[in-house]
Amino acid sequence: MHILVCLNLCLAVIFGCDSNSSETIESNIHEQVLTVDSHVDTPYFLFHHPDFDLSKWHDPYETNSKLDFPRMQQGALDAAFFAIWVAQGPRTVEGNENAKQRALDMATLIHDNLFRHEHLAELAITPDDAYRLEQEGKRAIFIGLENGYPIGNELSLVETFFDLGVRYITLCHTRNNDICDSSTDPNGPEHGGLSQFGFAVVREMNRLGVMVDVSHISDDAFFDVLNCSTVPVIASHSNARALYDHPRNIDDLMIVKLAENGGVIQVNFYYLNEPDPHHPDQLATVSDMVDHIDHIVSVAGVDYVGIGSDFDGGGQLADCFDVSEMPNITRELIQRGYTEKEIQKIWGGNLMRVMSEVLNGSRSRRTVEVN
Ligand SMILES: [Zn+2]
Repeated sequence: MHILVCLNLCLAVIFGCDSNSSETIESNIHEQVLTVDSHVDTPYFLFHHPDFDLSKWHDPYETNSKLDFPRMQQGALDAAFFAIWVAQGPRTVEGNENAKQRALDMATLIHDNLFRHEHLAELAITPDDAYRLEQEGKRAIFIGLENGYPIGNELSLVETFFDLGVRYITLCHTRNNDICDSSTDPNGPEHGGLSQFGFAVVREMNRLGVMVDVSHISDDAFFDVLNCSTVPVIASHSNARALYDHPRNIDDLMIVKLAENGGVIQVNFYYLNEPDPHHPDQLATVSDMVDHIDHIVSVAGVDYVGIGSDFDGGGQLADCFDVSEMPNITRELIQRGYTEKEIQKIWGGNLMRVMSEVLNGSRSRRTVEVN
């Protein structure tokens, strides 16, 4: 009896120490690196819940909300791109005007929320902002525009949105628009890739320093973008088609081409697996998601992959159900043998590299223009 108790105690000490030290390594790495989520639809949630207070902690199961500032802090997520999402509607003068107005309203909503909670979070418009805010212990909030529909066919609106802080534009959503074909339009392609206006939009985004986001666009539009853009591009929330054959995902050739261009694919928490006919509501796991990271790394290397959850836009995992559980991803990456340096790249280093190149490209381009 005495020996057994002693043995149990010894085992408890040994295993206790072991799990404590691995948890410390994991939380150290997770705290150390700049962690960036390139796609959350929280502005859409805010738009429909005007009383939602981003400065308060919320239960994700009770509120169906995936992100607030206390939970970002809890999950040590330093930065997130708040997507201004506008559903595709009629491409008429009136439809375009309504889409533009909706996007402007959502930009105002983001700015108002950041102003109200400036002690917790700030607008970020450059990678330096994110690194500075991380040091200050504040959340860095970038803005992306999901769907170019609000631009309608007015090129000057790209600069209007840039001036409001928009740093990437997803060229379309689930339907074709005036810029390009969507990967999921039930009527099939309309332009055969980018439209003539779409080419002009990409050039204007290059000029200003707005990242071109190829998530949602058709394969032909993807290749048109790569041929047109003079700087790297991103997929803000897309997965590997080799693991789940869905038009929203990106095949291996596209992964290689995007990497050759210097861009980055941000793996999301949606479109990870073929839906299980017996358990259609079963959520995918962190392990499923990291399988996509592993695949992209095996095809192109660790410099071209990141994370874009799609929280508040349908993205969720059984074991990363909201933003507070982001450390589970770091734990999985460590278990699979990724080094701290590699984790730093995946968690934001790669995306910040692309963002810098896009902004610097714009700077040199404008200098040339002035000269
Ligand atoms: Zn989306």
